[in-house]
Amino acid sequence: MKIETLVEDVGVKLLQLAVTKLPQDVKESLQQAYREEENGAGKTQLEAILKNIDLAEKTSTPMCQDTGVIIFYIKAGAQTQNLDKIEKALSKATIRATKEVPLRPNAVNPFTQKNSGDNTGRYVPFIHWEIVSGNTIEITVLPKGGGSENVCSLGMISPGTGVKGLKNFVIDTVMNAGAKPCPPNILGVAVGGGADIAMKLAKEALLRPLNESNPDPELAKLETELYDAANMTGIGPMGLGGKFTVLGVKVDYAHRHPASYPVAVAFQCWAARRASARIHADGTVEYLTHKVM
Ligand code: SF4
Repeated sequence: MKIETLVEDVGVKLLQLAVTKLPQDVKESLQQAYREEENGAGKTQLEAILKNIDLAEKTSTPMCQDTGVIIFYIKAGAQTQNLDKIEKALSKATIRATKEVPLRPNAVNPFTQKNSGDNTGRYVPFIHWEIVSGNTIEITVLPKGGGSENVCSLGMISPGTGVKGLKNFVIDTVMNAGAKPCPPNILGVAVGGGADIAMKLAKEALLRPLNESNPDPELAKLETELYDAANMTGIGPMGLGGKFTVLGVKVDYAHRHPASYPVAVAFQCWAARRASARIHADGTVEYLTHKVM
C-alpha cells in the first residue's frame, strides 16, 4: 500500500477512535473521581459523564457534539521516505472522517465567517512536526474542543515573581475559567521559551497520560501542588461544586530570556480525546492509546 493511502486510513481510524473512545487513563481517572467525589451535584455530573462515555463507546458515536478543531502531532523517523505526502494524506483523512464518523464541521474562516464544511482550511488540520531517529512515523491526533480552548491563557508575568507568580497565575486562570471548560479538566502548564513556545509546550503536555508522573521530581512536585490547589477551588465537575475541578496537571518548561517569564495554561475538558498510532517501515500499524481488534 502507498504511504499516503496508509496514512490516510490510519488518520481516519485515529479520528474515529479519539472522538468515540477515551484513552484508558482518562476513563480510569474519571471513574476514580466519581468514586471519591463527595459533593452530590458534582457526583451526579460525573455519573452522567461516565454514562455518556459508555454510550459513545458502545454506539461508536462522538462523546460530545463538539468534535473539536483537528490537530496532529507527528514524530517522523529521519529515515522515512515520502514524508512530503503526509500533510495531504491527513487533510484527506480529516475530510473523510468528517463524513464517516461523523465529525462536526468546525473550521471557520475568521474574516468571512464561512465554515469550510469539512474541518479543513488554512492551517487546519494543524500539524506539528518532530524529526526523530529511525524509520517509523508516529501520529497523534488531538481534537480540541472550543469550550476548553476559549479559557486557555498566556501570562507574561514578572520574572521576579518566579514560581510563586507561576502558581498564582495558574490558579487565577482556573478560577476565572470556572465551569466554562467543562471540568473536570486536565491542565497543561508550561513556563519559559517565548509566548508561542510556552503555549505550544502547554498544549502538548495535554497528551501525556494521566497515570504517568513527571520524570523530573521537582516538576512532579509542582504538578501535585497545582493539582491540589486547583481542586481546592471547589469549582467541581461541570462547575457544580466538588473535589474534582481537575483530573491532572502536566508541567513542561523551556529556558527563558532573562527579561521574560511566559506562563501558558492550556485546558482540556473531561472529553480529553487523543489517539496515537505508529506506522512501521513494513506497513504494519501499532495503535498506542486504544485497543484495536
Ligand atoms: S469543552 Fe469539551 S466537553 Fe465541553 S462542549 Fe467543548 S468539547 Fe464538549
